Amino acid sequence: MSQRERSEYLRKIPKVDELLAAEEVQRLLRSHPKEVVLEGIRRGLEILRQDILGAERTEDLREEVFSLNHLLPLFEREIASQVSPHLRRAINATGVVIHTNLGRSPLGERALRRLVEVSRGYSNLEYDLSKGVRGSRYGHVEEILLRLSGAEAGMVVNNNAGAVLLALNTVAAGKEVVVSRGELVEIGGAFRIPDVMARSGAILKEVGTTNRTHLRDYEEATGEDTALLLKVHTSNYRVVGFTSEVTLEELVQLGERHGLPVMNDLGSGCFIDLSSYGLEKEPTVQEAIKAGADVVTFSGDKLLGGPQAGIILGKKELIDTIKVNPLNRALRIDKLTLAALETTLVSYLSEGEAIKEIPTLHMLTASLEHLRKKARHLKRLLKRETEGAQINMIQENSQVGGGALPLQDLPTWALSIKPSKAPVGALEAELRNLDPPIIARIANDQLILDLRTIQDDELKVVAQGVAQALRKIND
Ligand SMILES: *Cc1c(COP(=O)(O)O)cnc(C)c1O
Repeated sequence: MSQRERSEYLRKIPKVDELLAAEEVQRLLRSHPKEVVLEGIRRGLEILRQDILGAERTEDLREEVFSLNHLLPLFEREIASQVSPHLRRAINATGVVIHTNLGRSPLGERALRRLVEVSRGYSNLEYDLSKGVRGSRYGHVEEILLRLSGAEAGMVVNNNAGAVLLALNTVAAGKEVVVSRGELVEIGGAFRIPDVMARSGAILKEVGTTNRTHLRDYEEATGEDTALLLKVHTSNYRVVGFTSEVTLEELVQLGERHGLPVMNDLGSGCFIDLSSYGLEKEPTVQEAIKAGADVVTFSGDKLLGGPQAGIILGKKELIDTIKVNPLNRALRIDKLTLAALETTLVSYLSEGEAIKEIPTLHMLTASLEHLRKKARHLKRLLKRETEGAQINMIQENSQVGGGALPLQDLPTWALSIKPSKAPVGALEAELRNLDPPIIARIANDQLILDLRTIQDDELKVVAQGVAQALRKIND
């Protein structure tokens, strides 16, 4: 294409003023703010301009690219991309219950209602209603945390990484913290115990070896500069074979002998012993407190099944010093989180209630029979789609996720789907593009939809989505 031809084409791009006169564009202005429509038009025209600049031959540009019929869908798309939310609900069909990339724990109905209620208007967030004076943000959850855990004092911050940072900074800045080499974990998303320790101002004193650490290792490393003995739950991995670790009880005894506090980062803390539901034994929060830990930290949105939060429990004297650390202000928890956290914690007053009300616990303890029924239901809903794909009910394994119980086998029921004409990757990608997106995984060249993490009220949407995606890729 010659330079002259190109300039001619560029001149044909409609002017914004002309476009605004068109009835179709006026219609857009009635349903969206002017700023958004103008930006949508500007972006749409820029795409057209780039198409002209990129065209090699005049034949590549058809006359109708300048027509409103062609441009309108472009404008509509560019308008939608400005106003439709980027953070959206998604359907988790992966079977990973505490899926960090998909928002970890979904909240229960009660917690959601409280969150809306508290944040719609004003609240007594930091106001003591009985005295009419300033109150404490933590007051709302401290009492119930103490009742559930048996601890002397407690507080909550933004997340567990913050809880660990704050506790280390308060107790051990400029001094040494003794940790086993077998517990220097990386959680993912760049949370590494040694790095957090460095940022807190504490000095890491690693002891033992990767697979074996003995009490004498801690003992030998303890000296004048020691401020804290730290035990970290190896959330997302296990060292198996020839191993040896020092129990929390033993560390507490050692701490007592040397007048040193002991901290336990539990990672995914839980108040319920899940081994009574056929899951592996995880140390509970109550056990860590009972063992005598001075500080215990854990997440709000892992096994606890609440909102993102970091919970700090322990001896009153220590917790009181953590509360007044100025860093605390930078990590403080917001009212939406507090509302959801308090409601989640209230569910724990009764174990049965917690399992029923808290989606994460509900999913983790779902019976195989229940999952099989759900799989059968979904398969029935998809009956008419069997021409476009091979759909079967299969037994699979779900995962706990969130760096909890990494070796746990969670037998589940799933649907495996093999599209008849297109590659399975196309189906997986198409499902991600739906609204709401459906996130699934591929195994053995088949798409796997794990029923454990698909909520009962999502079955219809999943069936419709799969049908739509299959039609699209088989076209
Ligand atoms: C997950 C985890 C953390 C970080 O908790 P967040 O709530 O993600 O900030 C810290 N320590 C351990 C052992 C963990 O498993």
